[in-house]
Amino acid sequence: MSDDLLWKVPEGEHVKLKKYDPGYVHPSFKHDEADEALAQLGREIDELQELLSAAQHHSLLMVLQGMDTSGKDGTIRHVFSNMNPQGCSVTSFKVPTPEEAAHDFLWRINNVTPPKGVIGVFNRSQYEDVLVVRVHNLVPEDVWQRRYKEINHFEKRLADNGTIILKFFLHISQDEQAERLQARVDEKDKAWKISSSDFVERQYWDDYQQAYEDALSQCSTNEAPWYIVPANHKWYRNLAIAQTLVDTMRKYKDEWKSDLEERGRKELEALQQLRDSGKIKGL
Ligand code: AMP
Ligand code: MG
Repeated sequence: MSDDLLWKVPEGEHVKLKKYDPGYVHPSFKHDEADEALAQLGREIDELQELLSAAQHHSLLMVLQGMDTSGKDGTIRHVFSNMNPQGCSVTSFKVPTPEEAAHDFLWRINNVTPPKGVIGVFNRSQYEDVLVVRVHNLVPEDVWQRRYKEINHFEKRLADNGTIILKFFLHISQDEQAERLQARVDEKDKAWKISSSDFVERQYWDDYQQAYEDALSQCSTNEAPWYIVPANHKWYRNLAIAQTLVDTMRKYKDEWKSDLEERGRKELEALQQLRDSGKIKGL
């Protein structure tokens, strides 16, 4: 179902962001029912995470990228509000520290990939190294150019080792960003969210869109697909992402459940043997 709600980038597709409407809303989701629908999806994410955690076969990595104000933080707050905090880890990637900068760009990312049983959310990610780094010429072109391949190899390695990967690009329009930035200036209780650098970065809008198009085109693979999320409407963005997460995890549900049943059977057998041998009394 989630395929209609947002756009999965097929491997090898040459993405043109102008073709995707940031204000898109699929008619199956209604604004006035959004809170209840999201709460229900949130409960299902929690249930599926419990199975993921118990089965210990997979981890899940969710990458969130998007222009400033596109809603990366809001997505995390709303989509995971029903989650057991033990089942989820969130990492926000900032300007690299001196220690991080002294290593290769994937070092800090590799250090915090989710272990089996955990949903790891990346608020920004390895992709900053082909986005902000490219837009501001922080490294020579031949260095950022080869990173697409390096990222693909890295993600393939994670996927081969049991990580389910979902990458979401929160697609907002330039006008919507202007409104969100202006709201932070106008509304005193939002002023703490102002980051003057967001206003500077906005000047590079077209360069960022170009950099995103290349990242989405070169790094959407079958094992680590990119999804373009229409994100002008916050309520819709949350629902589309939550539904995609649920649909993806549901595919593994039977496998996780049957593994757990098998494990339960083995434990009961082992217990019976202990009883039969007289090692356990009274229980
Ligand atoms: P925020 O997400 O608003 O806290 O901002 C974090 C800032 O860190 C953004 O301006 C990012 O572009 C920047 N950033 C994240 N990763 C990198 C990186 N690898 N190199 C340079 N800047 C980065
Ligand atoms: Mg910011």
